[in-house]
Amino acid sequence: MRILLSRPHMGGTELAHIQAAFDANFIAPAGPQLEAFEAAIAARLGHGVHCVGLSSGSAALHLALRVAGVTRGDDVWTTSMNFAGGVFPVLYEGATPVFFDLSPASWTIDTDLLETALRDAARAGALPKAIVPTDLYGQSVDLAAIETLAAQHGVRVVVDSAESLGATIGGRPAGTGGDAAILSFNGNKIITTSGGGMLVTRHADWADWARFLATQARDPAPHYEHSTYGYNYRLSNVCAAIGLGQLDVLDARVAARRAIFARYADALTPLGVRMMPEPDGHRSTHWLTALALPEGGADRELVRRTLADHGIEARPLWKPMHLQPLFAGARYVGRGMDEDLFSRGLCLPSGSDLTRSEQDEVIGRVSDLLSAG
Ligand SMILES: *Cc1c(COP(=O)(O)O)cnc(C)c1O
Repeated sequence: MRILLSRPHMGGTELAHIQAAFDANFIAPAGPQLEAFEAAIAARLGHGVHCVGLSSGSAALHLALRVAGVTRGDDVWTTSMNFAGGVFPVLYEGATPVFFDLSPASWTIDTDLLETALRDAARAGALPKAIVPTDLYGQSVDLAAIETLAAQHGVRVVVDSAESLGATIGGRPAGTGGDAAILSFNGNKIITTSGGGMLVTRHADWADWARFLATQARDPAPHYEHSTYGYNYRLSNVCAAIGLGQLDVLDARVAARRAIFARYADALTPLGVRMMPEPDGHRSTHWLTALALPEGGADRELVRRTLADHGIEARPLWKPMHLQPLFAGARYVGRGMDEDLFSRGLCLPSGSDLTRSEQDEVIGRVSDLLSAG
């Protein structure tokens, strides 16, 4: 592939931060770069959040669920159209995921379905332990609505903001939602630390507990003393140094991805393509441009394969989890909106380093395929 979906895009100052870590021999484990990275993200997000740098977004979600008290036998409600890393951690805790459909207005979890299901579950004495809504393709979920519903029922909320660092809803930054939120700095995300993640929480005690668990749950003692089990989940100081450099260009990266989305929208909407909607008050990162091909028009796989033949990487939208073999028989709350989107949906190359001529090439190929029917 010549034109990739989303690849790492360095800003230029990363090496200087890495050099500083090397100069002081803060190669491992923690160090000033990690502390500075956590503090910088916390300052950027505001709202009094605490940040814990971790080895991946999946690790962050696992820890958040553990800290939220999710355990064997609990239900965790989440979005069906999702990346594996946003769902598998539910299984790590021995809990059972319940999958929700998307709202046609936002392509994020449908809060009307959530409201009805919560009311029914409360009546049946079967509330979930936590709701884990996903900021799909960089668009924040409706934080206020979900937090209100969860508070009414005493349910924890962990927001999967892996794709949405830099997004806002009503001016409030993605990553500040719920009891905790998680970020990802995987190589294909808005900004990257090579690999990494972060747990973000308003609860200081959650951050302390997460940091403790992420470093093998070592009780205070001269020897290794353990009253519970932990993980080796901390973000490396060298990787955090990359993150410090990347943070300088976060706004530029979001602006570039939004501009790419807008160009695709201008060119493809007249051909009957439906772009992922961005409701009033939302500002998505448009991490990946997500769209639905016209109903009854060109076959999605034909379009994808033809693009691939020309060196252009496109990908179907996430396959809904309730359609995955792993989750056969899992509970699904919805009406197949996500199934329809999966059958017609495509992500186009969206990396912030995509040149204008690369964007033109993608637009030209997709336009040809759609016009050919
Ligand atoms: C990337 C991603 C994750 C996992 O992050 P990693 O850092 O790759 O472990 C979780 N949820 C969603 C929605 C993601 O896109």
